[in-house]
Amino acid sequence: MLSALLLSWYDEHRRVLPFRGTKDPYRVWVSEIMLQQTRTETVGAYYTRFLERFPDVFALADAPEEDVLKCWEGLGYYSRARNLHKTAKEVAETYQGQFPADLELLRALPGVGDYTAAAVASIAFGLPAPAMDGNLTRVLSRVHGVREDVDIPAVKRHLAELAREDMPGARCGDFNQALMDLGATVCVPGTPDCEACPFRPLCSAYREGDAETLPVKAAAKPPKDVSMAVALITCRGRVWMNQRKETLLKNLWVYHLTEGSDSRADAEKALKPLGIRAAYINELGKARHIFTHRVWHMTLLHYAAESTDCREGRFVTLNEMNALPIPTAMRAAKENAVQLLTPLITPVDEATLPAAAAAYAESWQESHAAHCTRDFLQKHSSSYMEEKLREHLRQGRCVYSIAQCGAAAGALVLDKAKNEIISLYIRPAHQGLGLGKAAVRFAVDALDRARPMHVTVLCGNERAISLYASFGFTEIAETRVLDAERDLAEEDRIRKAGG
Ligand code: SF4
Repeated sequence: MLSALLLSWYDEHRRVLPFRGTKDPYRVWVSEIMLQQTRTETVGAYYTRFLERFPDVFALADAPEEDVLKCWEGLGYYSRARNLHKTAKEVAETYQGQFPADLELLRALPGVGDYTAAAVASIAFGLPAPAMDGNLTRVLSRVHGVREDVDIPAVKRHLAELAREDMPGARCGDFNQALMDLGATVCVPGTPDCEACPFRPLCSAYREGDAETLPVKAAAKPPKDVSMAVALITCRGRVWMNQRKETLLKNLWVYHLTEGSDSRADAEKALKPLGIRAAYINELGKARHIFTHRVWHMTLLHYAAESTDCREGRFVTLNEMNALPIPTAMRAAKENAVQLLTPLITPVDEATLPAAAAAYAESWQESHAAHCTRDFLQKHSSSYMEEKLREHLRQGRCVYSIAQCGAAAGALVLDKAKNEIISLYIRPAHQGLGLGKAAVRFAVDALDRARPMHVTVLCGNERAISLYASFGFTEIAETRVLDAERDLAEEDRIRKAGG
């Protein structure tokens, strides 16, 4: 009676979900693992992407764990992803890629509990196994009038037994999914929509009018508050990250965490064993992340390290960071890290001009080292370059400071009247991080695209030549200056290009 009412309701009102309509055990299993502790609406996009990346159990078994975690990024409860990977290996090796059509064998796979085993057994193999999740527990405790704490093991068993008795001879998977849908859309927590419910004629809670109080649950313990300092340690356009070894968020990449304290002193003490010498810059803000049993209260701190040498973890570029699996708990820290690592190009002012000149001098000396005498190089000191930048400003040119991680990383000079990039220099420590590309993109946007643009680069500087070529610049002339040291503005061999 109950199952007939339910299945005819389901035939009319079932939810359309991306992971429904398949009996493939691999797909059912992936979706059921994802659905644990995650909202149905969230799972859809992850499910589709996950199956594109790992279309079958062998693809998942063969993948590195880091790829699986990256694909899981944002879903939380990462032990599910690690167990998913372990189970795939076990199914591939022990069962030749075929999930066992047996409740007990399914239950024995890593990360597969009573609920998941029953869901896979019923949906993929049609076995009469009730998938007792929160929805089934709520609906059945109301229908059958179970008014005891549903977290007590004996009460749990009793509810599962009632569900088993209610199961039809066929369509066991649909029975479970119908109860899930009814629990999600009609017999919802709090006040249910009994008028729309097929169980109304036989529901105990409806008769007694106490549906709001069911299921009975002992009050959950409040989560534990944990203070934490999250240090973003930057150096030369990179940020320090480490792979966690702790059970919570194991193998995921995080910034420097001092669990239990958000004080600067404790954070700095914890840096010493890592061999990192870093200067405190500023506090970037606060963030909070709620886990099931604890809440992280995070203070985000920025440090600048003296070098990228360290005994543990590693300094990563923005691109490398984006490729790593990073937990949602680090979302605010990651946003700050992205901001720090993203080049900032701003017009120089009195405050930023000396640092931009120092970066200009350092990179100029490095790029001209092979062509000029030591005296000539030394002449191009920070103060000399500062004066040179001021001269550019006096001539009406635009001078920009290129900064990264809060430090000067280079300088850019544009002549808008001539539509020309006069100078672009990136400090050696910040090269290879995409700053040059960002600066050329900025320059091309700032200049007039309707007119030919010009730039001069050193002959043989293939890196610069290919960078400009990628923006459409083509070579138009090559010039030789015989006595480089006579004209400080020119190089010994220069190439002129226009785009
Ligand atoms: S009648 Fe009301 S309380 Fe009973 S199962 Fe339906 S929605 Fe839930």
